[in-house]
Amino acid sequence: MKSVNLNERYQHVLEYFRQHAPSAETELKYTNAYELLVAVILSAQCTDKRVNMVTPALFKDYPNAESLAQASPEVIFPYIRSVSYPNNKAKHLAGMARMLVHEFNNRVPDSVEDLVKLPGVGRKTANVIASVVYNQPTMAVDTHVFRVSNRIGLTRNVKTPLQSELQLIKHIPKEWIPKAHHWLILHGRYVCLARSPKCSACGIQEFCKYYSTHKNKTLSKTSQQSKPSHHEKKIKKNNREKSGKKIG
Ligand code: SF4
Repeated sequence: MKSVNLNERYQHVLEYFRQHAPSAETELKYTNAYELLVAVILSAQCTDKRVNMVTPALFKDYPNAESLAQASPEVIFPYIRSVSYPNNKAKHLAGMARMLVHEFNNRVPDSVEDLVKLPGVGRKTANVIASVVYNQPTMAVDTHVFRVSNRIGLTRNVKTPLQSELQLIKHIPKEWIPKAHHWLILHGRYVCLARSPKCSACGIQEFCKYYSTHKNKTLSKTSQQSKPSHHEKKIKKNNREKSGKKIG
């Protein structure tokens, strides 16, 4: 690995993604802000693929917040029964839709501060909506973003998603933050896997801190098993708890 300082590492990594993944975007299917909000709420602790299987029928029968606000959690449940935590998510969707109608004039808010008031919406979901829908420089840190940015060395000594978020937005140029969120997620989903990072197939190994410290040890086997870190486990646990949070 070349000897690089933190700024150079950011530059090289961002440049790599700019060249190799210029059109990275969310894999959730949606056509407007309301649909993305529903899909992101459903995606907590669940795969995008699974969410994309249930949303077409839900959006067909409940095409906007007004219609969803009329539905009870019991009515919503059958549409989403195959995603994780369907009971809680049905309550969140019903509560979210009612709040959109009654407190936000049917419009998905554009500020993180307002978004987190919605049932089922934590900071990560709020950052996704602010970034994807409103192109704001907010960085949603999920388990992939947390792991990948930590492994590469973009973040240092981080213990929480918020610490990771603050370090990332400090160094990534504002105009690239929305895109960088997708770069890190997709890299974590397909290349820098939690248990078996595909370092031999990774285009940024030259600038990766993890690779530089492990290549002579464990990475001689490209299918090396890498256990999730304590912090990754904690993020997953927190997300599970968030999925189970009650509507206040
Ligand atoms: S070199 Fe390995 S650890 Fe580093 S980003 Fe690539 S896949 Fe992840």
